[in-house]
Amino acid sequence: MTDKLEKALAERYAFMKKGRTLDQQMKSGGIDDLYSAFGCQCEDGWYDLLDEICAKIQTIYNENGRKPNIIIDQIKEKYGTLRFYYHFGDKDQGIHAFDCIGGPSVKFMPGKGDELYERIAEIVSWGEDRSGEICEECGKPGTIRDLMYIQTLCDDCYAKAADQEE
Ligand SMILES: [Zn+2]
Repeated sequence: MTDKLEKALAERYAFMKKGRTLDQQMKSGGIDDLYSAFGCQCEDGWYDLLDEICAKIQTIYNENGRKPNIIIDQIKEKYGTLRFYYHFGDKDQGIHAFDCIGGPSVKFMPGKGDELYERIAEIVSWGEDRSGEICEECGKPGTIRDLMYIQTLCDDCYAKAADQEE
């Protein structure tokens, strides 16, 4: 995805800001943050979809009055559809225990069984599925095409890609 579009996402959603560049990571022992190193490894046609996924994630945090702690690991195209890999920062995680007087202590383990995290997982899997209906090149309705490698394309972009293969 072009720099300009990645920056637009980062401006709108703090969790889409990239950290250390590829060079910085290489100099300090190797790549350990693929998203920061390579950005969104897909074409521009999925920009609106990524924007929609991020907006939904942001909304869930807002509704819960929580600050986004999602950390993006990698965003890429694989076998024609989007892969959106992430984990959660551990600031909000861990075990919180409340000792109730005269009763058993109640433990909450955010992460597993956390409604917010479950809703985010649903959004991400919705977005990944949806990418199979959107042209990765231009954003028009598309379907999965079997070319040199599998890609989701509209009729026009498919014709162009098929021409280039000949
Ligand atoms: Zn297209």
